Amino acid sequence: MKIGVLALHGAVIEHIETLRAIGIEPVTVRLPEDLEGLSGLIMPGGESTTMRKLVARWGLREPIMAFARSGAPILGTCAGMIVLATEIAGGEEPVFPLLDVTVQRNAFGRQLDSFETELPFPILGDTPVHAIFIRAPIIERVGPGVEVLARLPDGRVVAVRQGNVLAISFHPELAGETRIHRLVAALASEYSDPGEGTAADGTEPWFMGEAV
Ligand code: GLN
Repeated sequence: MKIGVLALHGAVIEHIETLRAIGIEPVTVRLPEDLEGLSGLIMPGGESTTMRKLVARWGLREPIMAFARSGAPILGTCAGMIVLATEIAGGEEPVFPLLDVTVQRNAFGRQLDSFETELPFPILGDTPVHAIFIRAPIIERVGPGVEVLARLPDGRVVAVRQGNVLAISFHPELAGETRIHRLVAALASEYSDPGEGTAADGTEPWFMGEAV
């Protein structure tokens, strides 16, 4: 099973290494044809304005939208979250409007533009995630079909899921955290081999299973 990492810009290598660490074959995606045969796609952190330009330049917008609409799991981290939102506060055009949320870029301001914290992330079990936030976005509005996966202690939303689309404000790939990538791998396995997994009925902790 292969999972792609959008490799236009940003924290690409770290996602590739995290996928390798859980036994998944990573594929760098730069052109539409690179999506062929993939079972999932990760959109890394970086600068969303740069990603926006490169996505347009390489004609990736429609092919990635179609891939996501086919049910393939998509994970966006940080800038990757921004490009997945249907709405970006301040009025920038969305890039891949797949996630019914309003996202605010650089939401922590200058005084706290980077920080690390132990973040409860209940669907991953009792051990919190070591979350590294770097000029991170926040989700201001959550649409009706969107599930909140994690919040900061003050209640601000930093991780969400809408069906096959997941987005998180922070960088698990910089912290040696593999559980979020395992979750994507479990969804990717279900996508590539429907009926094999148990994701659909929700009765088993499918997301905690061994990497495939
Ligand atoms: N501040 C960046 C943006 O607005 C995101 C930062 C990141 O991905 N670490 O696009």
